[in-house]
Amino acid sequence: MSQRVAIVTGAARGIGAAAARRLAASGHAVGVVDLTEDGGRETVEAITAAGGKAVAVGADVSDPAQVDAAVKRVVAEFGPVAVLVNNAGVLRDNLLFKMTDDDWDTVMGVHLKGAFLMSRACQSHMVEQRFGRIVNLSSSSALGNRGQANYSAAKAGLQGFTKTLAIELGQFGVTANAIAPGFIATEMTAATAARMGVDFEEFQKASAARIPVRRVGTPDDIGALVAFLAGDDAGFISGQVIYVAGGPLD
Ligand code: NAP
Repeated sequence: MSQRVAIVTGAARGIGAAAARRLAASGHAVGVVDLTEDGGRETVEAITAAGGKAVAVGADVSDPAQVDAAVKRVVAEFGPVAVLVNNAGVLRDNLLFKMTDDDWDTVMGVHLKGAFLMSRACQSHMVEQRFGRIVNLSSSSALGNRGQANYSAAKAGLQGFTKTLAIELGQFGVTANAIAPGFIATEMTAATAARMGVDFEEFQKASAARIPVRRVGTPDDIGALVAFLAGDDAGFISGQVIYVAGGPLD
């Protein structure tokens, strides 16, 4: 079998970088998509240093023309896309009465429209191959979180999007699943701590105390599940939302 091609968005750092490394380690050639090509270089270097194949591509996932160009670039480099991980994300937290139109539109644009545009651009490759895996990054915030009306709506929306893709594309050998992480230590959660004026170490300790396994998550906790869902063994898992949070959530 020829090498499967994966695209991971927002793969310059954090969860996306871990997912890209894991997919490369399990034999995929990986398109590392992030806002700038430069941003993705470190992830590509880590993958190639470990003997894998990857290319960095700059694109804003909320922009249709940039998405189409990015997918074309990866296809030209490695061949048709078999695995798509919609991971790119931003926060624009604010209580509802302070949330601006731009806070709302930016979060919807990156998470929801970005996942839609990327999935639409990649699906024909998957359908033609009669094999595909789409993994969308939702969040425990989909269940509701103070200060995140925009983000929780987008992350809940991604769950409905995922289930619909599973229904439409299943007959072509394509599965779609969502991973909904709890607290994962990345620049995103570090920025939240900074915004709240809390030391990041203290923030993690306080969060860990509330998590049943008594630790916060790492990007690799999510990367490992992405790699599993992308593989042959996960072919009968589709339309699911898997919470990865160190314990059950309400
Ligand atoms: P992160 O460290 O902030 O990384 C997000 C990446 O996405 C960054 O490299 C960022 O690029 C990129 N990005 C932002 N906007 C983009 C756009 N329009 N087009 C392309 N790339 C874009 O975040 P993370 O913590 O790894 O989170 C990854 C995903 O998991 C997100 O969808 C997030 O919502 C979700 N998640 C995270 C947690 C958590 O606790 N960390 C929990 C639940 C869900 P720049 O650096 O250039 O902005």
